[in-house]
Amino acid sequence: MQNLLVMKFGGTSVGTAARIAASCALIRKEAAVRPVVAVVSAMSKITDLLLDTTRHAEAGDRPGVDRNLASLEARHIDTAKELLPESELPRVNEAIAALIADFRRIVGGMEMLAYRPPRAVDEAIAIGERLSAVLVSECLNSQGVAAEPVNAASVLVTDAVFNNASPIMDATRVKAGERLGPVLEKGVVPIVTGFNGATADGRPTTLGRGGSDFSASILAASLDATELWIWSDVDGIMTADPRLVPNAKILDEITYAEAAELAYAGAKVLHPRTLAPIAERGIPVWSKNSFAPEKPGTCIVSKLGEGNMGARAVTSMANVSLVSLEPANPAVSGVHVMARALDAMDRVNVEILALSSSSYRQSFCFLVRNDELTKTLEAIESALALEMAHGYVLEPEVDHNVGLLAVVGEGMRGFSGFAGRIFTAISRENINIIAIAQGSSELTISVVVRRDGLEKAVRAVHAECSL
Ligand code: ADP
Ligand code: ASP
Ligand code: MG
Repeated sequence: MQNLLVMKFGGTSVGTAARIAASCALIRKEAAVRPVVAVVSAMSKITDLLLDTTRHAEAGDRPGVDRNLASLEARHIDTAKELLPESELPRVNEAIAALIADFRRIVGGMEMLAYRPPRAVDEAIAIGERLSAVLVSECLNSQGVAAEPVNAASVLVTDAVFNNASPIMDATRVKAGERLGPVLEKGVVPIVTGFNGATADGRPTTLGRGGSDFSASILAASLDATELWIWSDVDGIMTADPRLVPNAKILDEITYAEAAELAYAGAKVLHPRTLAPIAERGIPVWSKNSFAPEKPGTCIVSKLGEGNMGARAVTSMANVSLVSLEPANPAVSGVHVMARALDAMDRVNVEILALSSSSYRQSFCFLVRNDELTKTLEAIESALALEMAHGYVLEPEVDHNVGLLAVVGEGMRGFSGFAGRIFTAISRENINIIAIAQGSSELTISVVVRRDGLEKAVRAVHAECSL
């Protein structure tokens, strides 16, 4: 399909009837001149609500489940009422009720088992996106634009890593062509659910929190789209999180590599894995504000124009912990301990955000997200159980009072002095630096600091690098 545009709308862009109407106006404008595929998130806070409901079900808390179901239903029924002509409501309300009944059925199973199987959680939480896809496509239809909700479970093929699945691109390309091609040929806009997919044998999966960005880029790559536009609630990718640094500036342009590093190191504006499928094909991505569509936004490209040198942005992550491991006696090889620990973490799919080791004591430490800490420790303790029982390796130590700060910029490569300036700026604020890591690409300098100094460190580094 020539000149295809994929547009992704985040939770705030479909968070109310007014926001859905505004997003539909953006779809309508583009769909008038070119083929469009829209990818939608659940309405803001709905995924949290659905997850919370599964936890109440697991705990056997029926009143908690019912309370959440009532607010889930009210949010969508009220939005439909505000958004759509009265004549359409009985049919749309029925569609909403059917999806909520599906959700109720899945959490009913969890209540009975007193357990939340990961694949059932994935099937359950994707219902947020399925509900918003119905509202968006009905709104477009009511404006005279032909649109159809599409459950990405029938399009996006993934592996079986429930809650954090990865796409299988070849299979997705085939399915996307089969499922979406005929819809586009008819001039209908597919409104595809973000966040979810299914294994080749049909088991439902999700791509991790914030995964709708990733869904959109997987689809853009699979359909050979000309562009991907990601609509959010900020004017583009900024030199820092505007909630931490009020004078953060919008970047006109940023490279795939820089944006990927920023997202990986915590910039919530993009899901960390968004750019991988798109960068290799060089498909341009725009990050834009659906609340202010006239603003140009940020363009993510392969190479920057002249003058975009030095550090580009600073980002941070607060919900992380530093785990240290150390052999108890010098006869034990630190490399061996490290290899066993890394292998154990790989098997449970833990992501290491930074890693640092010291030579003489053969100790090493690494940073993981707090929500992956329990499985990290369980995996390491089970892999090194014998060594620990016999006193060859010390128990892992966990430091919760830490945060990660990362400075990103292709222009820092090859220039000495950036690291020094960053450390000086942090020290000047009397914030303790605990560990330092620089990726071999020299694109990112990561610094682990005391948690209570993190925000201050971000502001100090932002000012120092004149971002
Ligand atoms: P959506 O629901 O549209 O996917 P998100 O809430 O996931 O939107 O991401 C947008 C938010 O990301 C912004 O509101 C902003 O607070 C946050 N953010 C963090 N770092 C940055 C950054 N460097 N540039 C822009 N926004 C950022
Ligand atoms: N709704 C999902 C979440 O809140 C996915 C997304 O919004 O990108 O994580
Ligand atoms: Mg997001």
